[in-house]
Amino acid sequence: MTEDSCACRSTDEMRQPLLAVAPASAVLAVASNHFHPWVALSPIERARCRSLHSQQDRVNFAASRALTRLLLARWAGLAPSTGIRFRWYQNCSSCRTPHGRPTLFGCRPPGVSWAYAGGMVAAAVGAGAIGVDIALTGFDDDDPRSMSPRRTAAGAAAKAGLGELADLLASRSLFSLPAGEFSDPATGVRGHVVCGGAPEAIDLFALVDTTADTPA
Ligand SMILES: [Zn+2]
Repeated sequence: MTEDSCACRSTDEMRQPLLAVAPASAVLAVASNHFHPWVALSPIERARCRSLHSQQDRVNFAASRALTRLLLARWAGLAPSTGIRFRWYQNCSSCRTPHGRPTLFGCRPPGVSWAYAGGMVAAAVGAGAIGVDIALTGFDDDDPRSMSPRRTAAGAAAKAGLGELADLLASRSLFSLPAGEFSDPATGVRGHVVCGGAPEAIDLFALVDTTADTPA
């Protein structure tokens, strides 16, 4: 761990969380100009990604992490290429396998969360607990649960560590949870984010719009 890979210097409880939503293919194309999205994955993540059945799932998997890295670089005030330096681990508290809520290495790191649906990915970074979940309007119309705002609100809350998904879905108090709803009619994405305050939504291309980038 080098000093550069630690985001603690910029962790500030008062800072506005960051949120980005974009097509997975665009994320991989844009991120590839700054770091290799596949190389950025940990060996465990690469194995998990390879085990996914559909190509779209594998693209979503890699893109969600790449978008998180671009947001982390922005959060830390560093060039997009430094996104490859961030490291996290996943260790589900229920089944002890490497999935679930990611925890960033470093002292006082920000919280991170990602989500995907269809070919769209979302990522969020902010101080403290954070969780994001998305759904596609018009996607999976046969499954009413996938369209339910209640489900994305519960999904975001579960990712933020506020409880188990099943308990949150069954909770009468779900809508009192601090889950902010967002939507993008252009892409058909809607979702919820749980974080400390209203997040700043950043366009994918704005995330890498810098003339100060330097090689990682
Ligand atoms: Zn698990």
